[in-house]
Amino acid sequence: MLLYERMGGGAEAPEPGRVAVPDLSAAGPEGRAARTALALREATATGGWTLLDHPLITLDVAGSPAYLEPDAVVVHPDGGWTVVEIKSFPMIDGSADPAKVGAAARQAAVYVLALQRVAAQVLASTGRPVTVRDQVLLVCPKDFANLPTAEAVDIRKQLATTRRQLQRLTKVEEIAGQLPPGTTFDLRLADDGKTVTRSAAELAEAVGSVDAAYAPECLSACELAFHCREQARAAGAVESLGRGVRGELGGLRTVGEVLAAARTEDVADEATDGSEGAGATAACSPDGDTDAPAAEALRRAAALRAEALAGAGPGGRSGTAGRADGAEGVPACR
Ligand code: SF4
Repeated sequence: MLLYERMGGGAEAPEPGRVAVPDLSAAGPEGRAARTALALREATATGGWTLLDHPLITLDVAGSPAYLEPDAVVVHPDGGWTVVEIKSFPMIDGSADPAKVGAAARQAAVYVLALQRVAAQVLASTGRPVTVRDQVLLVCPKDFANLPTAEAVDIRKQLATTRRQLQRLTKVEEIAGQLPPGTTFDLRLADDGKTVTRSAAELAEAVGSVDAAYAPECLSACELAFHCREQARAAGAVESLGRGVRGELGGLRTVGEVLAAARTEDVADEATDGSEGAGATAACSPDGDTDAPAAEALRRAAALRAEALAGAGPGGRSGTAGRADGAEGVPACR
């Protein structure tokens, strides 16, 4: 009913007890995905309201199928499909935490892309075009109460972004092809099914052979986060500072390069005076592009910082904040 009220369009309201809820149980994920696809095709042909409770759909991610389970998919009488996302964060007076709504929209975009694949199969087998709606229904508790409320969320932007990201992913086969022969992450359990037969060092070596793209978000999403963070920090990679900072820094890839770029002006002055600065200038800008916007912004920030420290007097340069060399400045950033 909530979906009909928010996104029903001109369709007839679903009568109580007349919404079809097909059984989607089947053996294994492949069986469930096939059952879901069949139920979607049948519901689309029927022309009534159908609710698919926790369907299983697949999406090709980097050349491998990923199984996805939306909370629900509703088939409208006109044959359109809508994804329903149920969340536990509250919706107060029709609005909710934008960050949480954004995350839910990104998640729903992945489901819509997977459903578009099923819709293409329905078109191929029945000749009937199916619209997977680019608005999803977000269901949340109403004002902290134990009652549901819902709003339609436009996910066109998230769809375009996710589509682009999926197209840019390197195929799993290509990544696997670059690994040393025989690389495995298998713990090789003993016959008791519990005891691992590979040493931690051996496993760490296998994990280390795969490039990682650490970001602070990994900490809440991946069990390898501490390992990857350690590697990123050891390499001085700017990725450990967050994707936003990484994007702002343009071609500067390490904290050392960033600090060197921030010092360029001082160094250039020193170089003019015939001192040792020329080497450091080259280090911060290997391609000689010292006018890059990121380097310019860093120089300005460094000048402001120096000015603030000078204004604070001798006491202002004590502790980590007063350190000018790159190695000591790093922990302050992190
Ligand atoms: S923590 Fe996980 S997701 Fe993040 S880079 Fe490492 S392996 Fe990848």
